[in-house]
Amino acid sequence: TDEDLETVPLSFPSISMSSRERRWSDTTPYSSKKKLQSWFQLPNGNWELGKMISTSGNESIISLSDGKVLKVKEESLVPANPDILDGVDDLMQLSYLNEPSVLYNLQYRYNQNMIYTKAGPVLVAINPFKKVPLYGNDYIEAYKRKAIESPHVYAITDTAIREMIRDEVNQSIIISGESGAGKTETAKIAMQYLAALGGGSGIEYEILKTNPILEAFGNAKTLRNDNSSRFGKLIEIHFSETGKISGANIQTFLLEKSRVVQCNEGERSYHIFYQLCAGAPPSLRGKLNLQNAEDYKYLRQSNCYSITGINDAEEFRSVMEALDVVHISKEDQENVFAMLAAVLWLGNISFVVIDNENHVQAVEDEGLFHVAKLIGCDIEDLKLTLSTRKMKVGNDNIVQKLTLSQAIDARDALAKSIYACLFDWLVEQINKSLAVGKRRTGRSISILDIYGFESFNRNSFEQFCINYANERLQQHFNRHLFKLEQEEYIQDGIDWAKVEFEDNQDCLNLFEKRPLGLLSLLDEESTFPNGTDLTFANKLKQHLNSNSCFKGERDQAFTVHHYAGQVTYDTTGFLEKNRDLLHLDSIQLLSSCTCPLPQIFASHMLTQSDKPVVGPLHKSGGADSQKLSVATKFKGQLFLLMQRLESTTPHFIRCIKPNNLQSPESYEQGLVLQQLRCCGVLEVVRISRSGFPTRMSHQKFARRYGFLLLDNVASQDPLSVSVAILHQFNILPEMYQVGYTKLFFRTGQIGVLEDTRNRT
Ligand code: ATP
Ligand code: MG
Repeated sequence: TDEDLETVPLSFPSISMSSRERRWSDTTPYSSKKKLQSWFQLPNGNWELGKMISTSGNESIISLSDGKVLKVKEESLVPANPDILDGVDDLMQLSYLNEPSVLYNLQYRYNQNMIYTKAGPVLVAINPFKKVPLYGNDYIEAYKRKAIESPHVYAITDTAIREMIRDEVNQSIIISGESGAGKTETAKIAMQYLAALGGGSGIEYEILKTNPILEAFGNAKTLRNDNSSRFGKLIEIHFSETGKISGANIQTFLLEKSRVVQCNEGERSYHIFYQLCAGAPPSLRGKLNLQNAEDYKYLRQSNCYSITGINDAEEFRSVMEALDVVHISKEDQENVFAMLAAVLWLGNISFVVIDNENHVQAVEDEGLFHVAKLIGCDIEDLKLTLSTRKMKVGNDNIVQKLTLSQAIDARDALAKSIYACLFDWLVEQINKSLAVGKRRTGRSISILDIYGFESFNRNSFEQFCINYANERLQQHFNRHLFKLEQEEYIQDGIDWAKVEFEDNQDCLNLFEKRPLGLLSLLDEESTFPNGTDLTFANKLKQHLNSNSCFKGERDQAFTVHHYAGQVTYDTTGFLEKNRDLLHLDSIQLLSSCTCPLPQIFASHMLTQSDKPVVGPLHKSGGADSQKLSVATKFKGQLFLLMQRLESTTPHFIRCIKPNNLQSPESYEQGLVLQQLRCCGVLEVVRISRSGFPTRMSHQKFARRYGFLLLDNVASQDPLSVSVAILHQFNILPEMYQVGYTKLFFRTGQIGVLEDTRNRT
């Protein structure tokens, strides 16, 4: 009823709230008198809506949906929104902005397949884990014509295209979220829309076909996601002057190459291996001496070969088709498959002990034989490379025999390097193909699909790098949405209370500071011949214990206070993964191969200054030509990425996983809330609601809308014209602010002006 609504403040919240009140996660007590319903937290942590029966003193009596009636302390209640606001498509429209209300609103929509919701400028996407009827040409058309207004990836992509053209500024769509939250699917949906609107030349088809290829080679089944991307990806799509797609470029980050030689029970290695084993036509099988997946040790160890609902053989055919589309020649394709088979056979090579010092030699079995044949090297050379190491002692070259574990390491390192080089090479070929017709118009839309924050029971070097990347991205997000915003308000002299936000600069400093930061100390220890994971952990404790974002733990572990929560890292394997050495003997072996790809890989490793190479070891055991470590290279990539993103107008999509079971229809409040907190969605709504996200200089505003004025304005200066426009369109005073140089608007205010302008 009308009366109920009056008890709810429908205007914007006062900006003179105390800073504590302004904190999002606060469940600030409120007077429940006259309220119809409130949120009440059950012992299991879930929130439930309680109907207010009566209130006396500071106690209320509420009834829950199951009929239970409770007497509760008033401060344990959190205001609920009136039913009329159920399922609003922008969280900014909620009268009461609190965690249970946000959770409820998202769930309300989710239950009706409305998986997209705006959180101010950010799009929240909740993974439906089922087909939802929201995509395809009809929807694309509708969003293009603006016939549908509900939040969607299409809508945000549409905005990116329009802003690219209107402002002549490159755009980026930054997608983040946990593993399995739907980033890769969301990126593909955005690409679909771009292809539909900017297509025509045919290049868009090629761009779309890069997805199945990169997924085959870079995705794998994990416990969290049957199609988990094990690399980060930025795809930059270029546009011509006329707004048509003219080319694209893909950059990848940090492929998890350890998966090639080792993966956990119930997970798989990269899809392409199983696809190849299941789907290679007979002639190819013969040439590569292919067996079934079960016959390869690398694939056997995790005891998982298939994915429910996926036919690997069929997938293989689509990958081959896609390779054709991006102009990888049949010959190159065969070379690629030969490398995959070589990697698989490498895993089957075994060793025998040959003396009483535990030295080993590779067994001359089918594994050794097939690898030599597939990469095109001498079988004796391969045997020697896997069982010995050339060393330099003083001026003499000596040959050292390897122990079993050293030999296995050498074999696995070779397999990992071949795979990682193959992946990079493929991306390079794809980029060459997509660069066709690319003209430097300076306009592009980049889509970033990068692993979200990870925190497991055991966290290793990979999580360390991934979480570091997320700190950087979070800072970009913060800077963009909060800091720049506030600075601009203050600079332009408008009346706006400062909103606090979590600054993660301290944590970034912990990683990046030199010489006493996590990355520097890791690199330093990695170059010490006697450095071990334990000495590394001790060094961290010695130098960083006073840092508030750091805590030394028992054994070889340490904890970092990330913006998204605390993560404890086990340093086991850190140094080796950071060094990522491929011994010179192995590189020389590859360069001696008669097949083209191994030669290319070897020359890449030798010439690229960013690939670590160990030369013949000196007596000390130190490396001859130590190059960039993995962490340093990654940091460099991240800095470049940030630079690129800084020069674009960003659009953020936060993907949320409603449950850990990859199952439809299940919405776990606690899990969702934790993700909303992690990615700053709650903060962003608050700041956007009390802020003025749309802004335009007086000049631009006057130029853009001045012609709509019905009456003549006495003065033609941009400010007077602007103010006259505002009056003519009845924009309410609380909906805008006039700054020294710009006009600032609440969200949604400029729409009516744009519509009128477009109709005229
Ligand atoms: P990772 O970090 O592990 O790569 P991700 O965030 O990229 O995870 P996706 O692979 O995009 O996650 O999504 C996981 C699965 O969720 C998909 O394979 C698909 O089954 C389902 N899914 C995600 N988004 C959608 C959607 N919009 N519609 C239907 N299903 C979806
Ligand atoms: Mg993914």
